Amino acid sequence: MMFDKLRLKLTIIYTGIFSLLVVMIVTGCIILLGHSVLTHEKQQMRDLIIHEGEEYVESGELPVSNHSIEVGRELAYMLKPGSDEVLHDQVSGSPVAQQLFALRDKWPNQDRKVKWLTLRDANDRLWIYIVGRDQIMDGTASAATLYMFKDLSDYYYEEQGEVVWLVLMSLFFICCGAGIGYYLAGRSIKPIREMFKRQREFVADASHELRTPLTVMGIAAEGMEGDTDSKFSEFTADTLKTMRMEIKRMNNLVAALLSLARNDAGVAEVRLEQVNFNVLLEQTAGTLSILAQQKGLKLELQLPPERLIIWGNRLRLEQLLTILIDNAIKYSLSGTVTVSALRHNQQLVIRVDDEGIGIDAADIERIFERFYRVDKARTRAEGGFGLGLPIAKIIVEQHQGTIEVESKKAGGSCFIVKLPLTMQR
Ligand code: ADP
Repeated sequence: MMFDKLRLKLTIIYTGIFSLLVVMIVTGCIILLGHSVLTHEKQQMRDLIIHEGEEYVESGELPVSNHSIEVGRELAYMLKPGSDEVLHDQVSGSPVAQQLFALRDKWPNQDRKVKWLTLRDANDRLWIYIVGRDQIMDGTASAATLYMFKDLSDYYYEEQGEVVWLVLMSLFFICCGAGIGYYLAGRSIKPIREMFKRQREFVADASHELRTPLTVMGIAAEGMEGDTDSKFSEFTADTLKTMRMEIKRMNNLVAALLSLARNDAGVAEVRLEQVNFNVLLEQTAGTLSILAQQKGLKLELQLPPERLIIWGNRLRLEQLLTILIDNAIKYSLSGTVTVSALRHNQQLVIRVDDEGIGIDAADIERIFERFYRVDKARTRAEGGFGLGLPIAKIIVEQHQGTIEVESKKAGGSCFIVKLPLTMQR
């Protein structure tokens, strides 16, 4: 599960980088293509104005006779030098004449200079023109200023179709890239997966092996404590008590580690049965009420009159309730711990509310991490290892539910667990 998420994350990163490269290459190609077309057309335009000018001087014929309008869609416009007198005008006949004249300021103002103009006609169609300007020389005197226009819009519209193809091809490449990324991500996490597996097996084996000697030691320590025939000094009696408590702590730690390791290895068996939640909660709260009493806290139960029947694992659900209620008691100095359960939209909603020390917003994000404790000194004194909530989370996930925490302004925290009443199996 964890590695599946990691693999997905890596695949997304690989695909993202690959997509960026594809987009950059495709954009680069389009820009390069457009640039080379424009450079070529500008050069041709330069050649054309020079050629048309020379021809005019030689033959006296006006540049760009009508046939070239049909073929190359070039338009000529000639002015008498030094005045606004129009010697020749093909622009007025064009469908975008008005727009071309409106852009007059943008026409080239230097001889043999070529510029490109973009304009929109009344139907909002985009037109791209390149304009070149030159002087037609008759001997040493200027006979006319010649402007030549050429419509390049077709390139643009043809390129649009090509861009669609390029985009489709890019999408195809990105999909292939995602497939390759998924494969590579799988390969790159394989050694980590193996290492993790070995480490998990080690934790599981070590916890398992430690259980028996710890149980034996616990029984032995209890036996010695209860041996009233032997006279122990006060020091030995105290040491025995400390030993017994530490063995109990170790036992709890080993049990928690084993539970987590089994779950990680996917061998944790969760047998489902019909559980009467009202009874389960009453029993669990009953057991823990002694702890609450010892700390001078009130433990209150709020259950609806209806029976809440859930498909789940009785032992694991009991463990979940124990962790949450035990924490509420551990991290409260006074007040009431309220545990409630109700049915809401086909869900069982369990709330464990306390009036204790609360949890900072920054810590809320982390309390479900293994071995995370907000106040290490305090939780050690309370006997915690920071493994309760991670186990609670796993139990909730095994029951396809959710767990969230609210830290209340007035102080205290509230853990809310939502479990589906009918699980999908
Ligand atoms: P622990 O065994 O240390 O209690 P948990 O995993 O159960 O470990 O909890 C992790 C940390 O979250 C605790 O150390 C504590 O700081 C904080 N915490 C859990 N429950 C509560 C609560 N009801 N009120 C305040 N803090 C809590």
